[in-house]
Amino acid sequence: MKAESHDQLNVLFLPYPTPGHMIPMVVTARLFAKHGVSVTIIATQANALTFQKAIDRDFSCGYHIRTQVIPFPADQVGLPDGVENIKDSTTPEMLGQISHGISMLKDQIELLFQDLQPDCIVTDVCYPWTVESAAKLGIPRLFFYSSSYFSNCVSHSIRKHRPHESLVSDTHKFTIPGLPQRIEMTPPQVAEWERTKNETTGYFDAMFESETESYGALYNSFHELESVYEQLHQSALGIKSWTIGPVSSWVNKDDGQKTNRGHKEDLEQEPQWLNWLNSKQNESVLYVCFGSLMRLPHAQLVELAHGLEHSGHSFIWVIRKKDGNENEDSFLQEFEKKMKENKKGFIIWNWAPQLLILDHPAIGGMVTHCGWNSILESVSAGLPMITWPMFAEQFYNEKLLVDVLKIGVPVGAKENKFWTSLGEDAAVGREEIVKVVVLLMGSSQESKEMRNRARKLSDAAKRTIEEGGHSYNNLTQLIDELKSLKISKALAG
Ligand code: UDP
Repeated sequence: MKAESHDQLNVLFLPYPTPGHMIPMVVTARLFAKHGVSVTIIATQANALTFQKAIDRDFSCGYHIRTQVIPFPADQVGLPDGVENIKDSTTPEMLGQISHGISMLKDQIELLFQDLQPDCIVTDVCYPWTVESAAKLGIPRLFFYSSSYFSNCVSHSIRKHRPHESLVSDTHKFTIPGLPQRIEMTPPQVAEWERTKNETTGYFDAMFESETESYGALYNSFHELESVYEQLHQSALGIKSWTIGPVSSWVNKDDGQKTNRGHKEDLEQEPQWLNWLNSKQNESVLYVCFGSLMRLPHAQLVELAHGLEHSGHSFIWVIRKKDGNENEDSFLQEFEKKMKENKKGFIIWNWAPQLLILDHPAIGGMVTHCGWNSILESVSAGLPMITWPMFAEQFYNEKLLVDVLKIGVPVGAKENKFWTSLGEDAAVGREEIVKVVVLLMGSSQESKEMRNRARKLSDAAKRTIEEGGHSYNNLTQLIDELKSLKISKALAG
C-alpha cells in the first residue's frame, strides 16, 4: 500500500445498517478511495462481514481504505448475537430493538470521530445527530441519500402542502403540488409517517431538518435520469448536492465483486440459476425480487405463484422465507418442484446475486418493489419494470418509473405499509399479475417502446460514470472542493 501523505484527504463513512442504504454507501466509500481519498468505514461486526472482502481486495490493490469495527450492544437491547441489521427484523418489536441498538452507538461513534480526526464525514441521512458532531469538529458533513431526487421532492411537497388531507375519500386522487409534471396519488399510497403524524414522524422531521444544516448531499442517481428533479431539489429545498451514481456499476465491474456485494457467502462455482438462465432465450425471463426487507404474506405468495405460472413467461423469483409456517413451506416446495419439472421458473431462497442476474442476457424485465437501488440496477441493465411498491417512498419511485420515465407497468398496489406491519391478505390478485407480466414480457408496441427507453437510459448510465461524464465530473469536483477546504482550514489554523 502506498504511504499516506499528510495532505491526503481523509474521509469517514458511516452507513446505516440496512442493505438498501449500506450497499450503495460502502460502494461510494470505495469510489472515494479509488479517487485517491483515504477512507474509513465505521460498522458493527456482523455488518462489516457483509462487505469486508471487497475492502480487503481494494486495500491489497493499494487503495487507502479500511473498516473500523465497533461492537453492537446486542445484550443490552435483548437481541441474539449477530442481529445488527434492519433486514433481520420480522416484527415491529424487533425493528424497535435493532433501531434502539443502532441509536446506542452514538457515543462510540462520536469518540471515533474525535480520535480519527477526519477532514469530512459522509453519514447516512438517518443519522441527523452527525450534523452537530461535524460542527464540533469544524468539518463538513455530507449526507448520503439512498433514494431518488424525485421521491425527495414529492415527500417535501406532501409534508409542506399536505394535499391528501383535503380529500373526502381514500380512493380519490390528489395532485402533488409544485412538480413540473402532473403526478397523482391516493392518500393510502403516501408514506405512513407523512400521511398522519405518528411516533416515527418526529424521527423523520429531525432527519429532514438535518439535511438543510449539512454541507450537502450525495445522491446515488444520475443527471440524465432525473435532472429536472435534481434542479427542483436545489430550488425547493436549497440543499447543495452531488449526483454520483449509479455507484454500483461504477465500482463492481467484475463478476466476483457483483456476487459478493452485500453478502458474506461466496457464490458456488457453477450456480444452478446460471445454468438455468443459460438455457433460456435472450430477454425471455422475468426477474422477481422485493428487495432485502420484504417477506410477503402467505396469501400473497400464493397469488404471485399462480400469476407467474399462468402468465406463460419464464421467471426467476427470490423468496425471503418466514420461519415456521408449514403451509407456506409445503405450498412453495410443491410449486418449486412443478416449476423445475416444466422448466418455467427458478426459485432463489433468501438472497440472490442481483447484479449478476440482471446483467444476464436472458433477463427481459424485473418485478420490483421500487426500492431505489433495485431501480437503478434494473435501469443500468436496460430493463423495463413491473412496479409493485410496498412501503416508504417506494410509491413515489413508482410514479417516476411509470409517469415520468415511462419504463414501468404498475401492478396496481394501493396501500403503503411497513414490511413489519403487513396483514395476512394478498394486496394484488393473480389476474392483475398475469395482465402486467403479459404486457411487459410480450411483444406489444407499448412493451417495445418501454424496452427502448430503458436501453437508452442504460447507455446514459454507462456514459455518466466514464471520464468526462456528469457523475464522474461531479465526484472529482467534490473531492477537489473538499481538498481545498482542508487546505484553507490548515492555512487558517
Ligand atoms: N439485493 C440483492 N439480493 C437480494 C435482495 C436484494 O443483491 O436477494 C440487493 C439489491 O441488489 C439492492 C439492495 O439489496 O442493491 C436492496 O435495496 P433496494 O433499495 O432495492 O431495496 P430495500 O432492500 O432497501 O427495500
